[in-house]
Amino acid sequence: LFIALEGGDGAGKSTQIKRLARGLAQGGLEVLTTREPGGSDLGERLRNLVLDPQFAPVDPRTEALLFAASRSSHVETVIRPALERGAVVITDRFLDSSVAYQGAGRGLGTSVIRDLNAWAVHGVMPDLTVLLDVSAATGRQRRSTRAEDRMEQESQDFHHDVRQAFLALAQDSPQRYLVLAADQPIPVLAQQISERVTQLLA
Ligand code: C5P
Repeated sequence: LFIALEGGDGAGKSTQIKRLARGLAQGGLEVLTTREPGGSDLGERLRNLVLDPQFAPVDPRTEALLFAASRSSHVETVIRPALERGAVVITDRFLDSSVAYQGAGRGLGTSVIRDLNAWAVHGVMPDLTVLLDVSAATGRQRRSTRAEDRMEQESQDFHHDVRQAFLALAQDSPQRYLVLAADQPIPVLAQQISERVTQLLA
């Protein structure tokens, strides 16, 4: 089972991933948690390059290609092998982050970024994508508490476009998506995610 958590910066993805992974592991399942950009050795190096202030601003097409390259390495060296041995894989961000950030946020176009990344992942798609939908106000507040968040420099329009792109993706694939308002209490979110995952494992 392959699960992705998506959402804007400060949505609380990593907290939910920890809780979900703990619950599944307690139930005796092999669980692998991972993240993007990054996830594999090469992927982490590419992440560091893209996020290195020395190279800022990275040209949007360069950024999109590096994220796609990082993702294909992540899929082939980490995600696919784990799925093949029957593990539950939970990733902090996947392909839809590129559609939202590079496609919508950077204005490269969502369909070209989707096609590029569909090619990069070579058939590996999440069975479930949990979107922690963060409102503009909550996002702004949470981002400002993170010292070195590169998204702090982005405009409100950028974050608005990213959010709308995630919501559009969820609307296009309702069976793959669980959309939750990210400003609910942590245990409430955890419960809703766990219920959906339990259904999928049944
Ligand atoms: O999710 P995480 O905080 O680790 O992401 C690192 C940074 O990269 C964030 O600021 C995120 O918004 C950005 N990012 C991006 N495009 C992606 C994925 C992440 O700009 N496709």
